[in-house]
Amino acid sequence: MKFEEINIDPLILKAVRDLGYKEMTFIQESVLPTALGGIDVVGQSPTGSGKTAAFSIPLIQGVERGKGVQAIVLSPTRELALQTTDMIKKMSKYRRVGVVTVYGGQPINVQFSGLRKAEIVVGTPGRVLDHLRRGTLDLSNVKMLVLDEADRMLDMGFIQDISNIIRHTPRNRQTMLFSATIPREIMRLAGRFMKRPKIFRARDDVEKPKVKQTYIEVGKKEKFQMLLALLKRENPTSAIIFTNTKSMADILSKNLYRNRINAWAIHGGLKQSRRERIMERFRRGEFPILVATDVASRGLDITGVSHIFNYDIPPNAEDYIHRIGRTARAGRTGRAICILCPDGHDNMRRIHAEYKDVKPEVFEGFDPSEYPGIKFRVGRRGPKNGKKYHGKGVPRFRGRRRSLPFGSPMPKW
Ligand code: ADP
Ligand code: MG
Repeated sequence: MKFEEINIDPLILKAVRDLGYKEMTFIQESVLPTALGGIDVVGQSPTGSGKTAAFSIPLIQGVERGKGVQAIVLSPTRELALQTTDMIKKMSKYRRVGVVTVYGGQPINVQFSGLRKAEIVVGTPGRVLDHLRRGTLDLSNVKMLVLDEADRMLDMGFIQDISNIIRHTPRNRQTMLFSATIPREIMRLAGRFMKRPKIFRARDDVEKPKVKQTYIEVGKKEKFQMLLALLKRENPTSAIIFTNTKSMADILSKNLYRNRINAWAIHGGLKQSRRERIMERFRRGEFPILVATDVASRGLDITGVSHIFNYDIPPNAEDYIHRIGRTARAGRTGRAICILCPDGHDNMRRIHAEYKDVKPEVFEGFDPSEYPGIKFRVGRRGPKNGKKYHGKGVPRFRGRRRSLPFGSPMPKW
């Protein structure tokens, strides 16, 4: 079906055409008519299948200029909130609305003026609550509430904040939930603040991302060598390597860099300005490899990511699905490889129980002695006289670090 076939404002349609969308995706086709009609919806469809547009269009169409905040989107990470804002801005190019991103790490007063003019707020829960407490955000006229990555937003870490925010919105609002994974208990929880929602689930075979997934077993000592060998074999144009901890993300990116691989780390222990700079440069393709914790596992839409490596195996099946969903977006293909050490077996079993697509793989001819090992201290030894550690006791890389040219050939070890 085409976007023209349903009741969308021509000004929004024009912007949608500018984005190059021709046909609606499955989730857009099913959710849009209902959502535009003001009915509560739950939309579950695979990663990269266009859920953002499925809620952005009803939001833009549903708000009126100059009448205060009427819609709010809650996101689990700052980067996702920024990306969603960006999308809403693009879609409201001709039908102008005020959108503001409200997120931590940015000085709060910067957001005051944006909030005064906004009809749509996109934010992370902590900072939204902050504004509510200060009285700089008023949600009493909210007509529409969206929880993107809904299962994450309703799990233990966020549920309290979310219910506090929801309490500030009117009862007769429209509530919309989206995610690629919505476990049953979360769905039950969601029922508490929705009004007879219509539930849309993409069948498994529709728009399922085409990711070839394997895992390779290796001893703990050879883990880093295996990663180097895989990078050499796969020669990815653009890849994300996931770790489970901030410190491992730091250590890994520095070690890759030592081996002339242009890799940068992003995680929650970095200053927000740095996080944004790194994301921006990765999006632009200025360097090929991003080492990330799960701050980058949800929702981020980066064109051209060809490979996902799990250097650490994620603790549950949902995280796994979201991590590998950073590749193969909007109908493209991708490759995902887990580097499995004995300490990852428990996690791997949990993933395997839910997703049978992950196949074992043997790396023929892998010889760890060809590659240098990992060092846990790179560059400066530690904080010198009064300088600070950042993150959890990990010294920041302070050596001169020039960017290697993009696409520079993999080194010969
Ligand atoms: P999800 O939230 O489901 O993971 P996104 O909303 O981030 O997915 O969309 C993934 C990609 O698909 C984006 O780059 C977006 O621009 C693109 N996209 C969305 N809808 C369409 C469409 N109807 N036709 C073509 N591309 C689309
Ligand atoms: Mg999304």
